[in-house]
Amino acid sequence: MKKAALLLLSAILILSLISCAPQKGDESGLDLHPSVEKAAWGLNTYYIDAKLDTTNNKLICRQRMELANRTGIKLQAICFHLYPNAFASQDNAPFDACDFSRAYPNGFDPGGMDVTRVLLNGAPVSFDLSSNRQLLTLKHTWKKGKKVTVEMEYTVTIPNCLGRFGRGVDTYKLSNAYPVLCAYKGGWITDGYCKVGDPFFTEVSNYDVTITAPKSLIIAATGEEVKSESDGSFKRTRYMARAVRDFAWVASEKFSVLEKKVGRVTIASYTLEPTGGQEALETAEKALKCFNKLFGEYPYNRLNIVCADYFVGGMEYPMLIMLDRKLYTQSMKISLEYVTAHEVAHQWWYALVGNDQVNEPWLDEALTEYSTMLYFDTNYGENAYKNFFNICVVDRYKIASHDIENEKIDRPITEFADNNEYSAIVYSKGALMFGVVSEIIGKERFLQGLNRYYEKKKFGIAEKRDLINALEGVAGMRLDGIFDAWLSGKVVVE
Ligand SMILES: [Zn+2]
Repeated sequence: MKKAALLLLSAILILSLISCAPQKGDESGLDLHPSVEKAAWGLNTYYIDAKLDTTNNKLICRQRMELANRTGIKLQAICFHLYPNAFASQDNAPFDACDFSRAYPNGFDPGGMDVTRVLLNGAPVSFDLSSNRQLLTLKHTWKKGKKVTVEMEYTVTIPNCLGRFGRGVDTYKLSNAYPVLCAYKGGWITDGYCKVGDPFFTEVSNYDVTITAPKSLIIAATGEEVKSESDGSFKRTRYMARAVRDFAWVASEKFSVLEKKVGRVTIASYTLEPTGGQEALETAEKALKCFNKLFGEYPYNRLNIVCADYFVGGMEYPMLIMLDRKLYTQSMKISLEYVTAHEVAHQWWYALVGNDQVNEPWLDEALTEYSTMLYFDTNYGENAYKNFFNICVVDRYKIASHDIENEKIDRPITEFADNNEYSAIVYSKGALMFGVVSEIIGKERFLQGLNRYYEKKKFGIAEKRDLINALEGVAGMRLDGIFDAWLSGKVVVE
């Protein structure tokens, strides 16, 4: 996610710069990249049938999940996040107090998810909900290696909310809107939604999603459209995605769509505004080419850049990024480029190389911010890189750090006071850290290390040690001392 505060930087920036059987030929029919085809084999699969009721702002869903216990041990329960329930009450809605009126311009509107029926291997079962209704637990002795089928029926209430989940004047944003299996790391990772950062941690899975929505709506979704048919005043569209970390979609009657093919990838820019759509498309193209070259090839066939009623700058999902429509004006041109490049970089650091975004958020966020600087370096040269680095990283950190006492980068999102502190420490100071490491080992080796990290951990879950190992491997020197000093907060930037 890119912070809202970034929008304020645009003026400064402008001034300074003027100077299931997932194999080819299977039912999906998708022409998969060999790495996706390989990664998709045997993954958990989500089959979702969702009907959007725009009169009542509800999403009525049936979902079947084919899941395997890959933890290597026998489990006694299966746990699912029900993220929409984070939006159920005004007291717990996941926004900083200072952002509340921007999240709910028409006043608080409750959202949520009501699960009405659960079947386990075809038989109805009872289930437990946590007190905040964000966690659904099935008690089940699940032997290692064993597969289960879990089916759920549920209704999602879509709130009038300009966060990543909800609806605005022109868009429905259905992100984190289905029950998703918790990640497992020595236990189920059941952290709930929170107001800081992106509180999600999921493993890659296969998706087969059919969306039934009024014909007038144009939909941007994770995955590829494989079939579309009319059903009265509705349209049923089937999307498939293999080896992706999440599934999100945005729908609007007002979208106009620009597309461009870059190698095997179709980049699509969905816009609501008269300007900015072409620029977003061009930035995404430049970012895709740049990160392909620097880190390794983007393996999916599609990348959607989606303008939305979203107030927090940008938000990343696999094969789809969501951008604040306010960025699509002439005066915000550089911010649009900056945020787009940042969110596209997340396709490498979050979507492909996954991490625990709740407990180790710096791993994707700081690296993504530094990758954004590398985008400017590659596309505009060293002077632009220095300009952006000074303004977006150094100055941002210095301005915000006056009010910050805890300098530690490596801490869970729940330990940050608010998104301002999070942004200054994780994005800016984190990017500073990567700038220092790159200088110490040399840019070429640094990029070689990131390429190794990407190739080794794509489609998987990375931890701090994986990144440091990859960089140490090419640097031929120990780097844990440098990383520890920065991550633990011992380094204070003057
Ligand atoms: Zn981000």
